[in-house]
Amino acid sequence: MPSADTILSSVFGFSEFRPGQEEVVDAVCAGEDVLAIMPTGGGKSLCFQLPALAREGLTVVISPLIALMRDQVRGLREAGVAAGALTSGNTPEETDAVFEALEDGSLKILYMAPERLAHGGTVRLLSRAGVGLLAVDEAHCVSQWGHDFRPDYLRIGDLRRALDVPVAAFTATADAETRDEIIARLFPDTAPRVFLRGFDRPNIHLAFAAKDSPRRQILDFAGARKGQSGIVYCGTRAKTEGLAQALREAGHMACHYHGGMEAEDRRIVETRFQREDSLIVVATVAFGMGVDKPDIRWVAHADLPKSIEAYYQEIGRAGRDGAPAETLTLFGPDDIRLRRSQIDEGLAPPERKGADHGRLNALLGLAEALRCRRQVLLSYFGEDSAACGNCDLCDTAPEVFDGTDAVRKALSAVLRTGESFGAGHLIDILTGNATDKVRQRGHEDLPTFGVGRDLDKRTWQGVFRQMMGHDLLRPDAARHGALVMTDAARPLLRGETTIELRRDTLRKAAHRPAVRALVSDEDAPLLSALKAKRRALAEAAGVPAYVIFTD
Ligand code: ADP
Ligand code: MG
Ligand code: ZN
Repeated sequence: MPSADTILSSVFGFSEFRPGQEEVVDAVCAGEDVLAIMPTGGGKSLCFQLPALAREGLTVVISPLIALMRDQVRGLREAGVAAGALTSGNTPEETDAVFEALEDGSLKILYMAPERLAHGGTVRLLSRAGVGLLAVDEAHCVSQWGHDFRPDYLRIGDLRRALDVPVAAFTATADAETRDEIIARLFPDTAPRVFLRGFDRPNIHLAFAAKDSPRRQILDFAGARKGQSGIVYCGTRAKTEGLAQALREAGHMACHYHGGMEAEDRRIVETRFQREDSLIVVATVAFGMGVDKPDIRWVAHADLPKSIEAYYQEIGRAGRDGAPAETLTLFGPDDIRLRRSQIDEGLAPPERKGADHGRLNALLGLAEALRCRRQVLLSYFGEDSAACGNCDLCDTAPEVFDGTDAVRKALSAVLRTGESFGAGHLIDILTGNATDKVRQRGHEDLPTFGVGRDLDKRTWQGVFRQMMGHDLLRPDAARHGALVMTDAARPLLRGETTIELRRDTLRKAAHRPAVRALVSDEDAPLLSALKAKRRALAEAAGVPAYVIFTD
């Protein structure tokens, strides 16, 4: 058998390994069980394709996406490798050809959708085919609570037992819990060698901004990058359409994309994005796994992603070619409320909800970071690093102040009003703004009334957002988002710890027309789409309904 280096250049045409690839390739070639966690674009495919050629026998690759399998099979065949795929997208002729190649032993790599494992014949077929290696791509699909869960991935364990061959599993999902779940399900009786490395994507500029006028912020960001391929992620389906429209009106080429569209329409957007140089896709998270475009120059989040994992995956789609790429993630108290309530109202068991709040907290910690964001991000993935020089906080150090006093005043206002109000009312109390609501509730007479006059309303808004970001206050979905103090806030309240906060850099409210404060044009299409949807549902079911699709 030729050496790994020889195959790397002669078959794949690469002059050297990417960081982390060689060790994984060596371990897989040596027949070890392996779990490799490498970032998106890190070159995981090569880590099973190359060993497949260096080893005796057939390599079976379980992969969740037909489009990705087709691309890889095409690429391998062009490189002269005997590769095939068994998927529901095959023509009968293609399937026959694969069966023949399996019979005569000429196939080197066989891609297979996990659903194939449900056919009883598949395991029998493979046990006769001389399989030498089982590769599992996107291995996090085995994780039951992950958003990419594929029930048929759970059958891989049976296949492995039947074939009795080494397993090499790959994923970009790095958090410790998912990793443990992958190991428990794919390697129940062995301890695989785990490779975890190279999460830094130094060419991607990281930036967050508090939501001020979100549509304007996205238009400004895209406007400074006109003619470049980019993705804007939105929290809801309805928003993708409105924002794509606004981008087109601003002279961009832009399409929307979400899980509610016909498969055919989605395919058209995917293909256009892949082929064209300057298309913006405004999408929900449904736009993702299958996107393999190397020169996406920017990714913006019009709404906060659901976790630090999701954030990393989504921004990781930019700049796979290694050239500079930029990102911007917008966030605000409404995002925190939405994400918290999605977790609380979801179907996951309580311990899972705790973990999901934790992952959201990690992302909020990144959003409210006071120092290099990349350091904060990489430390979440278990990597130490120096300040990066390629994030907004390295570009401009944020203005920081000792927020201990403000936070204690805010907590006191929360507690004295029975944890029953949102930030707006609490800020009125703190700044001594005797609104009708304040007077009606008798909150003028509270000892906290007016104790926060030293800070202006905008600063207080930043303080509350950061308190929510640091999980000192949580919106209670069951009570219209009333802010409730968490246990994490107790040491601050007792004066045992202090906290630094950033001074916000939000634009002044006066820059915006007053009417935006009532219904921003941002919300208008969302509201009308929701109303239409609600009407349709109500008609169909004969009941009132209220639904937001987030994909
Ligand atoms: P992942 O599955 O980890 O997201 P891929 O396997 O799709 O990444 O690889 C991403 C890109 O990197 C592909 O275009 C691939 O051809 C390229 N690539 C992989 N390994 C190397 C290498 N050693 N040298 C140069 N390019 C590579
Ligand atoms: Mg891949
Ligand atoms: Zn930095």
